[in-house]
Amino acid sequence: MRLVLVGPPGAGKGTQAQYIASNLSIPKISTGDIFRANVSGGTDLGKLAKTYMDRGDLVPDEVTIAMVRDRLSEDDAQDGFLLDGFPRNVAQAEILRDMLKDWSQALDLVLELVVDDDEVVRRLAGRRTCSQCGRIWHVEFDDKKDDKCDACGGALFQRDDDKEETVRHRLEVYQEQTAPLVSYYADEGILVGVDATGPVEEVTQRAMDAIRPYMG
Ligand code: ADP
Ligand code: ADP
Repeated sequence: MRLVLVGPPGAGKGTQAQYIASNLSIPKISTGDIFRANVSGGTDLGKLAKTYMDRGDLVPDEVTIAMVRDRLSEDDAQDGFLLDGFPRNVAQAEILRDMLKDWSQALDLVLELVVDDDEVVRRLAGRRTCSQCGRIWHVEFDDKKDDKCDACGGALFQRDDDKEETVRHRLEVYQEQTAPLVSYYADEGILVGVDATGPVEEVTQRAMDAIRPYMG
């Protein structure tokens, strides 16, 4: 199964990607996570990406695409993958399609996680990430009174780009650059919308129901 998750920042892509990828036994490939790991590691890629991420802008396509090409070439991605946060504009989508075609592969399905703007802002304002295992939490919805990860005990942190002003810009970038992917993939006949409101488990259930008909 070759899957892509699309949706605004805060829609729950990372949260759902964990469960969906594990249910389908495919690797979860999150470009945001790979960039953040490079920022923490102080690599050249991380230094470059950070200037864009801090502003809430997209990292340039050629850098992002080269990184995804490397990741998709790894052994564990040959029989399927779940992309979270890529592609993020039509140019990336077109290059992904050509790249997969060269490898005699194609996407099976693109899931659009649908939530309204108010909910997105609420979700991003309370988002916390574990510095050790990368799990995603929410201060209010997960009733996080301490700053510790329930899964591994690691310290939770708030992402720099989840501050209010950056969030507003990221939502604009989504509308301008990423939202056009919805009609792009609808035209390709592989887009399915999933209502991403309500409890996390219910959204996962809806996503799995949407995926099942496409499973070989
Ligand atoms: P969110 O989960 O809130 O949508 P991500 O973790 O996916 O955010 O991405 C964080 C940042 O990483 C983005 O704002 C952008 O700067 C960069 N980024 C992630 N994926 C891409 C991509 N496919 N193209 C360009 N930049 C990206
Ligand atoms: P994205 O990757 O699309 O930016 P995340 O998966 O990081 O989104 O989720 C953003 C925030 O919303 C996190 O704090 C997460 O715990 C929370 N969240 C995700 N799904 C739900 C849900 N169904 N209900 C309430 N909060 C959610």
